[in-house]
Amino acid sequence: MFENLSSKLEQAFKTLKGQGRITDINVAQTVKEIRKALIDADVNYKVAKTVTDSILKEAIGREVLIAVKPGELLTKIVYDHLTSLMGGEKTDISLKGDPAVVLIAGLQGSGKTTFSGKLASHIKKQNKNVLLVACDIYRPAAIDQLKVLGEQVGVEVYSEPENKDAVTIAKNAIAYAKANNKKVVIVDTAGRLAVDEQMMKEIAAVKQAIQPSETLFVVDSMTGQDAVNTAKTFNERLDFDGVVLTKLDGDTRGGAALSIKSEVNKPIKFVGNGEKMDALDAFYPDRMAQRILGMGDVLSLVERAQMVFDEEEAKRINQKLRKNQFDFNDFLSQLEQVKKMGDMKDLVSMIPGVGKALKDVDINEDAFKPIVAMIQSMTPQERANPDMINGSRRKRIAAGSGVQIQQVNNLMKHFEELRKMMKMMNNVKEGKMKMPNMK
Ligand code: GDP
Repeated sequence: MFENLSSKLEQAFKTLKGQGRITDINVAQTVKEIRKALIDADVNYKVAKTVTDSILKEAIGREVLIAVKPGELLTKIVYDHLTSLMGGEKTDISLKGDPAVVLIAGLQGSGKTTFSGKLASHIKKQNKNVLLVACDIYRPAAIDQLKVLGEQVGVEVYSEPENKDAVTIAKNAIAYAKANNKKVVIVDTAGRLAVDEQMMKEIAAVKQAIQPSETLFVVDSMTGQDAVNTAKTFNERLDFDGVVLTKLDGDTRGGAALSIKSEVNKPIKFVGNGEKMDALDAFYPDRMAQRILGMGDVLSLVERAQMVFDEEEAKRINQKLRKNQFDFNDFLSQLEQVKKMGDMKDLVSMIPGVGKALKDVDINEDAFKPIVAMIQSMTPQERANPDMINGSRRKRIAAGSGVQIQQVNNLMKHFEELRKMMKMMNNVKEGKMKMPNMK
C-alpha cells in the first residue's frame, strides 16, 4: 500500500541531512519534493499545496534537538500534518436506535456488498444480533452474493426477490428486525457503474424512509481523484456520515485516503484490506500517516524525546560518556529522566539493535527504589569512581541501604551494562549508528 508515495517521501527526507537547524533553503527543496510526491499519489493539487505550505511554515527555523536529526524532525512535522489532513482522530459509527440502522451506499464494484458482510461480522462479534438487508432490486446476483456472505459470517439476510421497490423492502426489513429481536440492521443498496440520477433518488428515498443512525459511503481507493469526486456527489445528495475506503491492500496510490476528509469534510471510518470477511480495519488517521511515512516507532521516539529531553543535561552526559566518565551521579540523574520518559525497555526497544542488547536487563519502576537507596549509601568518591567499589565497600553499601550484597553486585553489573548501552544510544544520536530505515 502506498509504496510509491512512501518511497518518494523517504527520498525527500534524505535530502535534509546533517544540519543542526532546519533552514529556509534546505527545507524548501524537501517540501517541494513532498508536494510532488503527494500530487503523484493523486492528491488534489490544492490540497497538496495547502498542506505542504503549512509544513514549510512550521518547519522553517525549527531548532533540531540533539536527540533527533533534521530529517526526523521534518518527518514528525509531516506526520502531524498528514494526520490532521485525514481527520486527526478516529471516528466511530453511530449505532443508535432499536434497531440501529446502517445504510450502505456507493457505486457498483466499490465493495459495498463485501463491506456489508464485513461490518455485519464485526458487529456480531460485539454480541449484537445483526440483520443484513439486500436492497438491490436490479441484480438478483447481488442478493445471492449477500446471502453467501451472510452465511459465511453467520448473519441472517433479509430479501424480497420479487419486490421491485427498494423503499418498501427496507421498511419491511426493519419491521422484521423489530419482530425478531435484531439490534442492528445493515442495508446494502443498489449501485451503478457511474453516478446516475435514478440511483441517487432511490437511495435518498430509502434513507428518508428508514432514518438510519449511520449512512456510510463505500469507495474504491484505487480510483484516486475519481473517488473524491464521487464522494462529493454522493454527499450532496445523501449527506452521509462516513466513508469506507476499500481495496487498500491493492496497489493504491493514497490520493483518496489523503484527500477525502478535506474535500468532503466527512471522516473515513473503515478501510477494507482484502476480500476476506475479516479484512476490515477501523480507520486511524495517525496510524495511516505512520504507514504512509513508513516510520513506525521512530515517531513516538521523537515525540517522547521532544517532551522530556533536557538538552543541557544530555550534552553534559554525552561528554562524560565520550570520555568514559559516566558515574553513579549521572546514573541517578539519568534514572530521573528515564522515569519521565516512561518504560525504559519500551523506549530503547524502538531503536533497532539497542533493544536486543537490553533484552535481559531488568529495569522497571520498582527496581528503581533499592537502586536509589544503594547509590545514596555510596560515598561521594564512590559515586564518582564506580570502579573503586570493591568487595568490602559493596558489603558496607548493602548494610547501609538494607539490601543483600547480591543486590549490590547486581547493581554494579547492571550499571556496567547501562554504561555500555548509554554509549550505544549516544552513538545513535551522533549518527555513528543508523536510525531505522524508513520502509
Ligand atoms: P459492490 O458492487 O459495491 O457490492 O462490490 P462487491 O462487494 O461485489 O466488490 C467488488 C469486488 O471487489 C469483489 O470482487 C470483492 O471481492 C472485491 N473487494 C471488495 N472489497 C475489497 C478489499 O478491501 N480488497 C480487495 N482486494 N478486494 C475487495
